[in-house]
Amino acid sequence: MSSDQSPKRPERPEKRAVARSAGAAPAVEATAPHVASALAASSPWAYAPAPESKELALIRPRYGLFIDGQERAPASGEVVITFNPATEEPLAEVAKGSAEDADRAISAAERAHRKVWSRLAPRERAKYLYRISRILQERSREFAVTETLDSGKPIRESRDVDVPLAAAHFWYYAGWADKLQYAVPGRRPESHGVVGQVIPWNFPLLMLAWKIAPALAAGNTVVLKPASTTPLTALLFADVCRQAELPNGVVNIITGPGEMGMAIVTDPRVAKVAFTGSTSVGIKIAQGIAGQGKALTLELGGKAANIVFEDAALDQAVEGVINGIFFNQGEVCCAGSRLLVQESIAEEFIARLKERMTTLRVGDPMDKNTDVGAINSRAQMETIGELVASGVAEGAELWQPGCVLPERGWFYKPTLFTNVAQSHRIAREEIFGPVLSAITFRTVDEAIEKANNTAYGLSAGIWTEKGSRILQVAAQLKAGVVWANTFNRFDPTSPFGGYKESGYGREGGLQGLHAYLRSS
Ligand code: NDP
Repeated sequence: MSSDQSPKRPERPEKRAVARSAGAAPAVEATAPHVASALAASSPWAYAPAPESKELALIRPRYGLFIDGQERAPASGEVVITFNPATEEPLAEVAKGSAEDADRAISAAERAHRKVWSRLAPRERAKYLYRISRILQERSREFAVTETLDSGKPIRESRDVDVPLAAAHFWYYAGWADKLQYAVPGRRPESHGVVGQVIPWNFPLLMLAWKIAPALAAGNTVVLKPASTTPLTALLFADVCRQAELPNGVVNIITGPGEMGMAIVTDPRVAKVAFTGSTSVGIKIAQGIAGQGKALTLELGGKAANIVFEDAALDQAVEGVINGIFFNQGEVCCAGSRLLVQESIAEEFIARLKERMTTLRVGDPMDKNTDVGAINSRAQMETIGELVASGVAEGAELWQPGCVLPERGWFYKPTLFTNVAQSHRIAREEIFGPVLSAITFRTVDEAIEKANNTAYGLSAGIWTEKGSRILQVAAQLKAGVVWANTFNRFDPTSPFGGYKESGYGREGGLQGLHAYLRSS
């Protein structure tokens, strides 16, 4: 792969090599002119390592299944190992559950629903949710460090985004627990019963919170399967349930492979299914439960367009595009993985984007200065590599900054493709990595047409000074979430979900609560 093929711009600052120790924050290869002059006095420009302490995580060597409030050994007696993606070192052994364990967990959840949770006064249910939220806040550093070690995401993000948002979801839905009649005015709200939930590895704790908080607030009990590569914060959450003295069986967390996930969702005692992950598994789940009369929400992939119009505030738009694709290494279903930039500003915009990409710090996720951490698994690295190779083979132009990656761990350089045709795989398929495909447009109509030219429909971004254009374009974008002059903003009060192959149903907000209620 070529690297640092930046355009020949006369004002471009000279490159500086910056020394650093292995695994620490990466070298900054070049700086924007205004930043360069400001820093000239303090050359060389280097960030001292600022590592968070691993000791805060208290990871145990082995974890069982959390069923009926107890830690249980899996029926198979087998374990799988979860690895730190930044070092490729094992973190812990985790129980390998099976259909037999799913059966036990569903029995516990069914009993807890029938005997305890559905009979509890709503305001009492609310107290448990508030308690969980408070414990998450109290143990936030432990959760952030565990999440970063297990997933590879930068500590800055797990600390400032994942954990606070997870706590906020429990807090928000605690508020709904004793007000369900106002959620469905004029109708009688009822819980579904047992809910089966399967979550992915990109936001392990946050996806758990998106799923468990509304389910419990609505009076359901839960059997949840985390992804096999990121089970640790879900298992730590089991400890929070115990600490909050949540009645046994209300939340059951079982680790195991995809087949166990299928056993959970297809069990006839499970009345409602919620899944976040790939479109292919979402389709399998929809097929697996077809005809069973279960409620289903699917939150699947995306290929979002981040549209930059010529009147946009360019530096802000650059930041938004960077955040849109490099947040969580681009392993985000709503990532702005397609940049649509108006032709009149494309050259200038791409140049500024490249300059900004050279300042991204890629490396040790535990370093508080790191912007781009490790890719979650070797398999995901291979997927990214394969799609990037297809981009090159199909004729798109690849550019990467000259940052040096750590020798160990699964890291991928921030990558920009220009000269991208809409037919290229990198413009159509979800890469789920730090790879941005840039496409140009000339008119508003062309931007809308290109943005909608995708099998997905999860999110989109619009960058323009004109409020009327925001309204005009947003109304025509087939995406569940449209951000204007910002990107990747999440709030528990706001619904999130997609169209087309991005799935159906909404999570978050009142709409997210409806998914967990039956009303007559
Ligand atoms: P999957 O869809 O396979 O995994 C998501 C969850 O589903 C995991 O808990 C997984 O378990 C589980 N699962 C896997 N197979 C089944 C099954 N047959 N029945 C029930 N549950 C199942 O995603 P991948 O991890 O394979 O990632 C592949 C691609 O999916 C990524 O490259 C990305 O494009 C997309 N993706 C999208 C996400 C999103 O947020 N929309 C999140 C993650 C991935 P296990 O981990 O044990 O396999």
